Amino acid sequence: MHTKQIGKNLIQVDLCTGGYSQLISSYILAGSNPVIVESGPTNSVPNLLDAINEVGIKPEAIRSVAVTHIHLDHAGGAGALLKHLPNANVIVHPKGAPHLIDPERLWPSSQSVLGYVSEVFGKPEPVPQNRIIPMTEGSIDLGDGGKLSIIETVGHASHHLSYHEAFNGGVFTGDAAGTYLAECNVVVPTIPPPFYLEPALASLDKLIALNPSALYFTHFGKADDAVNRLKAYQEQLKLWAKVAEEGVKAGHNLEQIRSRIIKEDPAMTAVEEYVKGHRVLQKTVLENCINGIVGYAERKLGKPAS
Ligand SMILES: [Zn+2]
Repeated sequence: MHTKQIGKNLIQVDLCTGGYSQLISSYILAGSNPVIVESGPTNSVPNLLDAINEVGIKPEAIRSVAVTHIHLDHAGGAGALLKHLPNANVIVHPKGAPHLIDPERLWPSSQSVLGYVSEVFGKPEPVPQNRIIPMTEGSIDLGDGGKLSIIETVGHASHHLSYHEAFNGGVFTGDAAGTYLAECNVVVPTIPPPFYLEPALASLDKLIALNPSALYFTHFGKADDAVNRLKAYQEQLKLWAKVAEEGVKAGHNLEQIRSRIIKEDPAMTAVEEYVKGHRVLQKTVLENCINGIVGYAERKLGKPAS
């Protein structure tokens, strides 16, 4: 009931993590060699397994779970999921692999960054080392003439990958292209600390060069007009960086910088009330992402915000 066909051999799954719809999606590439993109968090793995069953794919047929990065909302559930997929391995950036194998440090650091949201996602279980395939380039055969190509897209995190699927020509962006709030048709930045602007912009250039037919956001869903959205996201990140740098220079505090970003960024102005009223987004967008851009500005200027 939470699955939706969004392209050839491509199914979107609303994981409904913690009961929140349209927050986190996984994707099923349903060729003769099926692949799951994003395990999602631990707490919604049962929902993902239901979805796999619902679309008629046998768990033992799945050979790969491709995660964009190791944050809990994208890959926290990989260990729990693999217990039910006996023939699957996990594709992950080599810098993220150690934290999937041993999540003991990832969990407390996630708890400190995410606060109550970490409990919505759930504690990650370890992934056996022999079931991890570290990759930063290359591709996976999807069967039926399709392939999933790996693109290293660091910036949001130093261990971030995006994936291009050849059935429809779209890209799974993870958190490299922001959070898409479909009902408002708005993208907002997804840049918790430590955020690195220049690599993030360069990664977006890589995705633009692919000229994708669509973007498949983990948060949340499919969006068309892909190239224009990627270019707009670059401009949005530059705007946030400019406002944050001006604020840090002027000695403003976090609250003042947050207010100015909401005022100067039309996308943020448009969704301010929606985000403030959403228990997860208020924490991730209005706290963590503001911290991310202010941290960037502080490093650049060598000066803390007041
Ligand atoms: Zn995320």
